[in-house]
Amino acid sequence: MDPKGEILVVDDTPESLRLLADLLLTEGYRVRPTMDPKLALESALANPPELILLDVKMPGMDGFELCQRLKQETCTEQVPIIFVSALQELRERVRGFEAGGVDFITKPIQREEVLARVSAQLELSRMRQSLEKRSQELAAANQKLQDLDKLKSLFIASVSHELRTPLNAIISFSGILLREILGGLNERQRDSLERIDRAGRHLFSLITDVIDISKIEAGRSDVYPETFGLQELVEEALNTIRPQAEAKGLTVTVSVSAVTWPVLHTDRRRLLQCLVNLLGNAVKFTEEGGATVLVSDTGEAVEIAVRDTGIGIAEGDLSKLFKAFERLDSHLRVKAGGTGLGLYLTRKLVTDFLNGEISVDSQHGEGSTFCLTVPKVIVSTETLSEGELS
Ligand code: ADP
Repeated sequence: MDPKGEILVVDDTPESLRLLADLLLTEGYRVRPTMDPKLALESALANPPELILLDVKMPGMDGFELCQRLKQETCTEQVPIIFVSALQELRERVRGFEAGGVDFITKPIQREEVLARVSAQLELSRMRQSLEKRSQELAAANQKLQDLDKLKSLFIASVSHELRTPLNAIISFSGILLREILGGLNERQRDSLERIDRAGRHLFSLITDVIDISKIEAGRSDVYPETFGLQELVEEALNTIRPQAEAKGLTVTVSVSAVTWPVLHTDRRRLLQCLVNLLGNAVKFTEEGGATVLVSDTGEAVEIAVRDTGIGIAEGDLSKLFKAFERLDSHLRVKAGGTGLGLYLTRKLVTDFLNGEISVDSQHGEGSTFCLTVPKVIVSTETLSEGELS
Protein backbone atom coordinates (compact mmCIF):
# COMPACT_ATOMS: atom_id res chain seq x y z
CA MET A 1 0.00 0.00 0.00
CA ASP A 2 1.14 3.57 -0.78
CA PRO A 3 2.62 4.82 2.51
CA LYS A 4 0.92 8.18 2.16
CA GLY A 5 -2.25 7.13 0.36
CA GLU A 6 -4.30 8.65 -2.43
CA ILE A 7 -6.91 11.26 -1.58
CA LEU A 8 -9.83 12.36 -3.72
CA VAL A 9 -10.56 16.02 -3.03
CA VAL A 10 -13.94 17.33 -4.19
CA ASP A 11 -14.68 21.05 -4.06
CA ASP A 12 -16.49 23.24 -6.59
CA THR A 13 -14.52 26.35 -5.59
CA PRO A 14 -11.19 26.41 -7.50
CA GLU A 15 -9.34 28.32 -4.77
CA SER A 16 -10.38 25.99 -1.98
CA LEU A 17 -9.62 22.98 -4.12
CA ARG A 18 -6.15 24.25 -4.98
CA LEU A 19 -5.43 25.15 -1.38
CA LEU A 20 -6.33 21.69 -0.11
CA ALA A 21 -4.62 19.87 -2.97
CA ASP A 22 -1.38 21.84 -2.56
CA LEU A 23 -1.36 21.28 1.16
CA LEU A 24 -1.72 17.54 0.77
CA LEU A 25 0.74 17.32 -2.14
CA THR A 26 3.45 19.07 -0.17
CA GLU A 27 2.94 16.50 2.58
CA GLY A 28 3.57 13.70 0.09
CA TYR A 29 -0.02 12.50 -0.44
CA ARG A 30 -1.19 11.66 -3.92
CA VAL A 31 -4.16 13.88 -4.74
CA ARG A 32 -7.00 13.55 -7.22
CA PRO A 33 -8.69 16.97 -7.31
CA THR A 34 -12.21 17.23 -8.76
CA MET A 35 -14.61 20.14 -9.01
CA ASP A 36 -17.63 18.30 -10.35
CA PRO A 37 -19.40 15.98 -7.86
CA LYS A 38 -20.72 13.71 -10.66
CA LEU A 39 -17.22 13.24 -12.05
CA ALA A 40 -15.99 12.67 -8.52
CA LEU A 41 -18.53 9.86 -8.11
CA GLU A 42 -17.44 8.22 -11.36
CA SER A 43 -13.78 8.59 -10.49
CA ALA A 44 -14.26 7.12 -7.00
CA LEU A 45 -16.22 4.17 -8.33
CA ALA A 46 -13.74 3.49 -11.12
CA ASN A 47 -10.75 3.64 -8.82
CA PRO A 48 -11.58 3.93 -5.12
CA PRO A 49 -9.19 6.29 -3.30
CA GLU A 50 -8.01 5.73 0.25
CA LEU A 51 -9.76 8.81 1.59
CA ILE A 52 -12.16 11.47 0.31
CA LEU A 53 -12.27 15.13 1.32
CA LEU A 54 -15.68 16.40 0.37
CA ASP A 55 -17.06 19.90 0.17
CA VAL A 56 -20.66 20.10 1.42
CA LYS A 57 -22.16 22.86 -0.66
CA MET A 58 -21.90 22.05 -4.35
CA PRO A 59 -24.27 22.58 -7.26
CA GLY A 60 -26.07 19.56 -8.77
CA MET A 61 -25.24 17.12 -6.00
CA ASP A 62 -24.28 18.29 -2.53
CA GLY A 63 -21.63 16.60 -0.42
CA PHE A 64 -24.14 14.73 1.74
CA GLU A 65 -25.84 13.16 -1.26
CA LEU A 66 -22.54 12.23 -2.89
CA CYS A 67 -21.43 10.69 0.39
CA GLN A 68 -24.62 8.60 0.61
CA ARG A 69 -24.18 7.39 -2.98
CA LEU A 70 -20.60 6.33 -2.26
CA LYS A 71 -21.67 4.50 0.89
CA GLN A 72 -24.21 2.49 -1.10
CA GLU A 73 -21.55 1.03 -3.41
CA THR A 74 -19.55 -1.96 -2.26
CA CYS A 75 -16.28 -0.70 -3.68
CA THR A 76 -16.46 2.66 -1.89
CA GLU A 77 -18.54 1.94 1.21
CA GLN A 78 -15.44 1.55 3.37
CA VAL A 79 -13.60 4.64 2.05
CA PRO A 80 -13.52 7.22 4.87
CA ILE A 81 -15.10 10.57 3.92
CA ILE A 82 -14.24 13.82 5.69
CA PHE A 83 -16.51 16.78 5.02
CA VAL A 84 -14.89 20.15 4.47
CA SER A 85 -17.40 22.83 5.27
CA ALA A 86 -17.97 26.32 6.55
CA LEU A 87 -21.19 25.04 8.15
CA GLN A 88 -20.77 25.03 11.88
CA GLU A 89 -24.27 24.06 12.96
CA LEU A 90 -24.72 20.87 14.88
CA ARG A 91 -27.69 19.91 12.69
CA GLU A 92 -25.49 19.95 9.57
CA ARG A 93 -22.77 17.96 11.25
CA VAL A 94 -25.28 15.34 12.35
CA ARG A 95 -26.54 15.11 8.76
CA GLY A 96 -22.96 14.54 7.64
CA PHE A 97 -22.43 11.69 10.08
CA GLU A 98 -25.80 10.20 9.16
CA ALA A 99 -24.80 10.27 5.50
CA GLY A 100 -21.74 8.16 6.40
CA GLY A 101 -19.03 10.79 6.92
CA VAL A 102 -16.41 10.13 9.57
CA ASP A 103 -15.17 13.64 10.37
CA PHE A 104 -15.45 17.37 9.63
CA ILE A 105 -12.86 19.99 8.72
CA THR A 106 -13.97 23.58 9.15
CA LYS A 107 -13.42 26.20 6.47
CA PRO A 108 -11.35 28.34 6.35
CA ILE A 109 -9.02 25.40 6.68
CA GLN A 110 -6.09 25.21 9.10
CA ARG A 111 -3.06 23.31 7.84
CA GLU A 112 -2.44 21.40 11.09
CA GLU A 113 -6.09 20.47 11.49
CA VAL A 114 -6.34 19.10 7.93
CA LEU A 115 -3.17 17.06 8.27
CA ALA A 116 -4.08 15.73 11.71
CA ARG A 117 -7.58 14.65 10.68
CA VAL A 118 -6.46 13.16 7.37
CA SER A 119 -3.67 11.13 8.88
CA ALA A 120 -5.87 9.95 11.80
CA GLN A 121 -8.60 8.73 9.41
CA LEU A 122 -6.11 7.04 7.10
CA GLU A 123 -4.55 5.26 10.02
CA LEU A 124 -7.95 4.15 11.33
CA SER A 125 -8.98 2.94 7.91
CA ARG A 126 -5.76 0.96 7.46
CA MET A 127 -6.16 -0.57 10.90
CA ARG A 128 -9.72 -1.59 10.09
CA GLN A 129 -8.62 -3.13 6.80
CA SER A 130 -5.86 -5.10 8.42
CA LEU A 131 -8.28 -6.25 11.15
CA GLU A 132 -10.74 -7.38 8.50
CA LYS A 133 -8.00 -9.24 6.69
CA ARG A 134 -6.92 -10.90 9.93
CA SER A 135 -10.45 -11.93 10.81
CA GLN A 136 -10.97 -13.35 7.32
CA GLU A 137 -7.74 -15.31 7.67
CA LEU A 138 -8.84 -16.48 11.09
CA ALA A 139 -12.24 -17.55 9.79
CA ALA A 140 -10.57 -19.47 6.96
CA ALA A 141 -8.12 -21.11 9.37
CA ASN A 142 -10.97 -21.96 11.69
CA GLN A 143 -12.96 -23.53 8.87
CA LYS A 144 -9.90 -25.55 7.86
CA LEU A 145 -9.49 -26.77 11.43
CA GLN A 146 -13.14 -27.76 11.61
CA ASP A 147 -12.83 -29.68 8.34
CA LEU A 148 -9.69 -31.42 9.59
CA ASP A 149 -11.41 -32.20 12.87
CA LYS A 150 -14.28 -33.82 11.00
CA LEU A 151 -11.82 -35.78 8.92
CA LYS A 152 -10.09 -36.92 12.09
CA SER A 153 -13.39 -38.03 13.61
CA LEU A 154 -14.26 -39.88 10.43
CA PHE A 155 -10.88 -41.58 10.41
CA ILE A 156 -11.31 -42.66 14.03
CA ALA A 157 -14.79 -43.97 13.25
CA SER A 158 -13.48 -45.99 10.30
CA VAL A 159 -10.52 -47.45 12.18
CA SER A 160 -12.67 -48.30 15.17
CA HIS A 161 -15.18 -49.95 12.89
CA GLU A 162 -12.43 -52.16 11.46
CA LEU A 163 -11.33 -53.09 14.99
CA ARG A 164 -14.75 -54.45 15.84
CA THR A 165 -14.57 -57.40 13.44
CA PRO A 166 -11.49 -59.13 14.93
CA LEU A 167 -12.73 -58.21 18.39
CA ASN A 168 -16.01 -59.99 17.69
CA ALA A 169 -14.01 -63.11 16.88
CA ILE A 170 -12.08 -62.83 20.18
CA ILE A 171 -15.28 -62.46 22.20
CA SER A 172 -17.11 -65.24 20.33
CA PHE A 173 -14.26 -67.74 20.61
CA SER A 174 -13.58 -67.02 24.25
CA GLY A 175 -17.32 -67.59 24.79
CA ILE A 176 -17.16 -70.93 22.97
CA LEU A 177 -14.16 -71.99 25.05
CA LEU A 178 -15.80 -70.83 28.29
CA ARG A 179 -18.90 -72.88 27.53
CA GLU A 180 -16.53 -75.86 27.21
CA ILE A 181 -17.86 -76.69 23.75
CA LEU A 182 -14.33 -77.56 22.66
CA GLY A 183 -13.40 -79.44 25.82
CA GLY A 184 -13.16 -79.06 29.58
CA LEU A 185 -11.21 -76.27 31.30
CA ASN A 186 -9.16 -76.27 34.45
CA GLU A 187 -9.43 -73.37 36.91
CA ARG A 188 -6.43 -71.44 35.60
CA GLN A 189 -7.60 -71.76 32.01
CA ARG A 190 -11.11 -70.59 32.96
CA ASP A 191 -9.72 -67.67 34.89
CA SER A 192 -7.57 -66.58 31.94
CA LEU A 193 -10.43 -66.95 29.49
CA GLU A 194 -12.74 -64.93 31.70
CA ARG A 195 -10.16 -62.16 31.72
CA ILE A 196 -9.94 -62.26 27.92
CA ASP A 197 -13.74 -62.19 27.71
CA ARG A 198 -14.07 -59.23 30.11
CA ALA A 199 -11.32 -57.25 28.42
CA GLY A 200 -12.82 -58.00 25.00
CA ARG A 201 -16.26 -56.82 26.06
CA HIS A 202 -14.83 -53.69 27.66
CA LEU A 203 -12.92 -52.90 24.49
CA PHE A 204 -16.03 -53.58 22.44
CA SER A 205 -18.14 -51.07 24.35
CA LEU A 206 -15.29 -48.55 24.25
CA ILE A 207 -15.02 -48.92 20.48
CA THR A 208 -18.77 -48.69 20.05
CA ASP A 209 -18.87 -45.44 22.04
CA VAL A 210 -15.88 -44.04 20.13
CA ILE A 211 -17.56 -44.83 16.80
CA ASP A 212 -20.79 -43.17 17.93
CA ILE A 213 -19.02 -40.04 19.19
CA SER A 214 -16.76 -39.78 16.14
CA LYS A 215 -19.69 -40.11 13.77
CA ILE A 216 -21.56 -37.38 15.60
CA GLU A 217 -18.50 -35.12 15.63
CA ALA A 218 -17.90 -35.72 11.93
CA GLY A 219 -21.49 -34.68 11.23
CA ARG A 220 -22.17 -38.13 9.79
CA SER A 221 -25.21 -38.91 11.87
CA ASP A 222 -28.76 -37.88 11.20
CA VAL A 223 -31.89 -37.70 13.27
CA TYR A 224 -34.41 -40.38 12.35
CA PRO A 225 -37.71 -39.58 14.06
CA GLU A 226 -40.42 -42.20 14.27
CA THR A 227 -43.70 -42.47 16.14
CA PHE A 228 -43.75 -44.84 19.10
CA GLY A 229 -45.23 -45.36 22.55
CA LEU A 230 -42.89 -44.45 25.39
CA GLN A 231 -44.07 -47.40 27.47
CA GLU A 232 -42.65 -49.97 25.03
CA LEU A 233 -39.39 -48.08 24.82
CA VAL A 234 -38.97 -47.92 28.60
CA GLU A 235 -39.78 -51.62 28.88
CA GLU A 236 -37.27 -52.47 26.19
CA ALA A 237 -34.60 -50.53 28.09
CA LEU A 238 -35.54 -52.25 31.36
CA ASN A 239 -35.43 -55.69 29.72
CA THR A 240 -31.96 -54.96 28.38
CA ILE A 241 -30.67 -54.09 31.81
CA ARG A 242 -32.64 -56.61 33.92
CA PRO A 243 -30.13 -59.51 33.66
CA GLN A 244 -27.32 -57.29 35.06
CA ALA A 245 -29.64 -56.02 37.81
CA GLU A 246 -30.84 -59.50 38.76
CA ALA A 247 -27.28 -60.78 38.84
CA LYS A 248 -26.62 -58.18 41.57
CA GLY A 249 -29.95 -58.75 43.34
CA LEU A 250 -31.23 -55.27 42.40
CA THR A 251 -34.75 -54.29 41.41
CA VAL A 252 -35.62 -52.23 38.35
CA THR A 253 -39.05 -50.62 38.34
CA VAL A 254 -40.98 -47.96 36.49
CA SER A 255 -43.37 -45.29 37.67
CA VAL A 256 -45.38 -43.02 35.42
CA SER A 257 -47.12 -39.88 36.65
CA ALA A 258 -49.40 -39.45 33.60
CA VAL A 259 -52.83 -41.04 33.14
CA THR A 260 -51.77 -42.51 29.83
CA TRP A 261 -48.32 -43.18 28.49
CA PRO A 262 -47.23 -40.51 26.02
CA VAL A 263 -46.68 -41.19 22.34
CA LEU A 264 -43.52 -39.62 20.92
CA HIS A 265 -42.26 -38.69 17.48
CA THR A 266 -38.53 -38.59 17.95
CA ASP A 267 -35.36 -40.59 17.35
CA ARG A 268 -36.35 -43.82 19.08
CA ARG A 269 -32.99 -45.56 18.75
CA ARG A 270 -31.10 -42.63 20.29
CA LEU A 271 -33.57 -42.24 23.15
CA LEU A 272 -33.31 -45.96 23.88
CA GLN A 273 -29.51 -45.72 23.83
CA CYS A 274 -29.60 -42.86 26.37
CA LEU A 275 -31.97 -44.70 28.65
CA VAL A 276 -29.96 -47.92 28.50
CA ASN A 277 -26.78 -45.96 29.28
CA LEU A 278 -28.38 -44.31 32.32
CA LEU A 279 -29.91 -47.56 33.55
CA GLY A 280 -26.61 -49.36 32.96
CA ASN A 281 -24.82 -46.81 35.16
CA ALA A 282 -27.55 -46.99 37.80
CA VAL A 283 -27.09 -50.76 38.06
CA LYS A 284 -23.30 -50.53 37.80
CA PHE A 285 -22.98 -48.07 40.67
CA THR A 286 -25.60 -49.55 43.02
CA GLU A 287 -25.01 -52.40 45.43
CA GLU A 288 -28.33 -52.44 47.29
CA GLY A 289 -31.88 -51.47 46.34
CA GLY A 290 -32.13 -50.74 42.65
CA ALA A 291 -33.20 -48.32 39.97
CA THR A 292 -36.51 -46.71 39.09
CA VAL A 293 -37.53 -45.03 35.87
CA LEU A 294 -39.89 -42.12 36.56
CA VAL A 295 -41.82 -40.75 33.61
CA SER A 296 -43.79 -37.52 33.55
CA ASP A 297 -45.53 -35.73 30.73
CA THR A 298 -45.17 -31.93 30.73
CA GLY A 299 -47.28 -31.37 27.60
CA GLU A 300 -44.70 -30.44 24.96
CA ALA A 301 -42.01 -32.63 26.49
CA VAL A 302 -41.48 -35.73 28.57
CA GLU A 303 -39.19 -36.11 31.54
CA ILE A 304 -37.60 -39.49 31.98
CA ALA A 305 -35.64 -39.78 35.21
CA VAL A 306 -33.49 -42.72 36.22
CA ARG A 307 -33.14 -42.83 40.00
CA ASP A 308 -30.88 -45.23 41.84
CA THR A 309 -30.02 -46.04 45.43
CA GLY A 310 -26.32 -46.37 44.65
CA ILE A 311 -23.06 -44.81 45.75
CA GLY A 312 -24.01 -41.32 44.57
CA ILE A 313 -21.67 -38.62 43.35
CA ALA A 314 -19.85 -36.03 45.42
CA GLU A 315 -20.93 -32.45 44.78
CA GLY A 316 -17.47 -31.50 43.50
CA ASP A 317 -17.55 -34.30 40.91
CA LEU A 318 -20.88 -33.38 39.31
CA SER A 319 -19.27 -30.99 36.83
CA LYS A 320 -16.86 -33.69 35.58
CA LEU A 321 -19.58 -36.22 34.79
CA PHE A 322 -20.33 -35.31 31.20
CA LYS A 323 -16.72 -34.98 30.07
CA ALA A 324 -15.16 -37.61 27.82
CA PHE A 325 -13.10 -40.33 29.51
CA GLU A 326 -14.00 -38.96 32.95
CA ARG A 327 -14.37 -41.68 35.56
CA LEU A 328 -14.63 -40.77 39.18
CA ASP A 329 -12.47 -42.34 41.80
CA SER A 330 -13.87 -44.99 44.12
CA HIS A 331 -13.41 -48.65 44.85
CA LEU A 332 -16.83 -49.58 43.44
CA ARG A 333 -16.31 -47.48 40.33
CA VAL A 334 -12.99 -49.17 39.64
CA LYS A 335 -14.62 -52.57 40.19
CA ALA A 336 -17.62 -51.64 38.02
CA GLY A 337 -15.44 -50.85 35.02
CA GLY A 338 -16.66 -48.60 32.23
CA THR A 339 -15.30 -46.40 29.53
CA GLY A 340 -15.97 -42.93 30.89
CA LEU A 341 -17.64 -42.13 27.58
CA GLY A 342 -21.22 -43.14 28.37
CA LEU A 343 -22.46 -39.87 29.85
CA TYR A 344 -20.51 -37.76 27.36
CA LEU A 345 -22.19 -39.66 24.53
CA THR A 346 -25.58 -39.58 26.26
CA ARG A 347 -25.44 -35.82 26.59
CA LYS A 348 -24.40 -35.43 22.94
CA LEU A 349 -27.30 -37.64 21.85
CA VAL A 350 -29.77 -35.76 24.01
CA THR A 351 -28.71 -32.30 22.90
CA ASP A 352 -27.75 -32.94 19.25
CA PHE A 353 -30.36 -35.53 18.28
CA LEU A 354 -33.27 -35.23 20.67
CA ASN A 355 -33.20 -31.44 21.18
CA GLY A 356 -33.38 -32.11 24.87
CA GLU A 357 -31.43 -31.67 28.07
CA ILE A 358 -29.93 -33.88 30.71
CA SER A 359 -29.51 -32.99 34.34
CA VAL A 360 -28.27 -34.78 37.42
CA ASP A 361 -29.05 -34.65 41.07
CA SER A 362 -27.07 -36.77 43.48
CA GLN A 363 -26.32 -37.30 47.15
CA HIS A 364 -23.02 -38.91 47.93
CA GLY A 365 -23.69 -42.30 49.51
CA GLU A 366 -27.45 -42.15 48.92
CA GLY A 367 -28.03 -42.33 45.18
CA SER A 368 -28.37 -40.38 41.99
CA THR A 369 -31.10 -39.22 39.65
CA PHE A 370 -30.32 -38.51 36.01
CA CYS A 371 -33.17 -36.76 34.21
CA LEU A 372 -33.73 -36.50 30.46
CA THR A 373 -36.12 -33.83 29.23
CA VAL A 374 -36.95 -34.28 25.56
CA PRO A 375 -39.59 -32.70 23.33
CA LYS A 376 -42.27 -35.16 22.27
CA VAL A 377 -41.99 -34.18 18.63
CA ILE A 378 -38.89 -33.38 16.59
CA VAL A 379 -38.27 -33.04 12.86
CA SER A 380 -35.77 -35.02 10.87
CA THR A 381 -32.50 -33.61 9.54
CA GLU A 382 -31.35 -34.02 5.96
CA THR A 383 -29.27 -37.04 5.22
CA LEU A 384 -25.68 -35.86 5.14
CA SER A 385 -24.04 -39.22 5.39
CA GLU A 386 -22.51 -41.13 2.56
CA GLY A 387 -21.32 -44.65 3.17
CA GLU A 388 -22.75 -44.74 6.73
CA LEU A 389 -20.75 -46.85 9.08
CA SER A 390 -22.79 -49.39 10.95
P1 ADP B 1 -18.65 -45.18 32.61
O1 ADP B 1 -18.49 -46.00 31.39
O2 ADP B 1 -17.42 -45.11 33.44
O3 ADP B 1 -19.88 -45.52 33.37
P2 ADP B 1 -19.95 -42.70 32.17
O4 ADP B 1 -19.58 -41.54 31.30
O5 ADP B 1 -21.26 -43.33 31.92
O6 ADP B 1 -18.78 -43.71 32.04
O7 ADP B 1 -19.91 -42.21 33.64
C1 ADP B 1 -18.80 -41.45 34.08
C2 ADP B 1 -18.61 -41.63 35.56
O8 ADP B 1 -19.67 -41.03 36.28
C3 ADP B 1 -18.63 -43.08 36.00
O9 ADP B 1 -17.37 -43.69 35.84
C4 ADP B 1 -19.03 -42.94 37.45
O10 ADP B 1 -17.88 -42.58 38.20
C5 ADP B 1 -19.99 -41.76 37.45
N1 ADP B 1 -21.40 -42.17 37.39
C6 ADP B 1 -22.17 -42.26 36.31
N2 ADP B 1 -23.42 -42.67 36.61
C7 ADP B 1 -23.43 -42.83 37.94
C8 ADP B 1 -24.44 -43.27 38.89
N3 ADP B 1 -25.68 -43.56 38.51
N4 ADP B 1 -24.07 -43.34 40.19
C9 ADP B 1 -22.82 -43.02 40.58
N5 ADP B 1 -21.84 -42.61 39.75
C10 ADP B 1 -22.13 -42.53 38.44
